Amino acid sequence: MLARFLGFHSFGYAGSEQYSLMAVIEAAGLTKHFLARRGIFGGERGVVRAVDGISFTIEAGRTLGVVGESGCGKTTTAKLVLGLEDPTGGTILFEGRDLQGLDTAGRRLYRRSVQAVFQHEFSGGQRQRIAIARALALSPKLIVLDEPVSALDVSIRAQILNLLRDLQAELGLSYLFIAHDLAAVAHMSHTIVVMYLGKIVESGDARTLARTPKHPYTEALFSAALPSHPDERREEIILSGEVPSPLNPPSGCRFHPRCPHAMPSCAEQEPALADIEGRLVACHLYDTDEHRAPIRIAAGASPVS
Ligand code: SF4
Repeated sequence: MLARFLGFHSFGYAGSEQYSLMAVIEAAGLTKHFLARRGIFGGERGVVRAVDGISFTIEAGRTLGVVGESGCGKTTTAKLVLGLEDPTGGTILFEGRDLQGLDTAGRRLYRRSVQAVFQHEFSGGQRQRIAIARALALSPKLIVLDEPVSALDVSIRAQILNLLRDLQAELGLSYLFIAHDLAAVAHMSHTIVVMYLGKIVESGDARTLARTPKHPYTEALFSAALPSHPDERREEIILSGEVPSPLNPPSGCRFHPRCPHAMPSCAEQEPALADIEGRLVACHLYDTDEHRAPIRIAAGASPVS
């Protein structure tokens, strides 16, 4: 029905009941560093750690939302998944096959299977529908939605988000959803990954993470987002300063210069992602055993699902 609404009669999709929660994308230790010159005359070279060892899974028919301020690595992650950038470390598996090992035909098939819809494609709802229809024309399994509704009025924004959700339910599509609008991300996503300076600082079930964030950065981000219930009140947490340069990230926890809970150890030791009450959090506030559980990484799988 939706496909007909968009003007396409057959995409070769099976019924949604045939989709299982198999992984479409599994990224493990994904890293993208760029060489950059420092200073006006560009003499000294440095490394921009745009994406620095992140792991996540996007399952069939599910949405992974990625949030964080500008410069956190969201768009570079999207480009890595789209094959527009090659990783400098780690792996991306597409339905179990390593992208780096694909031959030309395999790469071509991958490019058809993973489509993108970006912000700059839209200036109105009708154009947006056209861009979505264009992405669907190649029968993709995954669509990367990078700020897909930011340029739209609120009412049209809701229509397009609901259309995307209906398409997912009907066609079993997977989405990698990137947006500054946290309410939209929470509405669309099954799982959310929070990135800061190229690292994942928290990830887990979207609704739980948005309602009860554990990492101080996640807490600050979502404190400014719309409450999910009219009776819900949240005190907005204003973070001081800007995101530091990924060319020279802070020592220890990269968030420590801006964190309202920072302790002396935070500047020295980088916190590892650990399973804290059912989600992954990288923060020394949870270093005590009472919070921790064995990390949920199955053999051959990445921690986020
Ligand atoms: Fe804040 Fe320390 Fe946790 Fe980093 S590790 S988020 S600085 S409390």
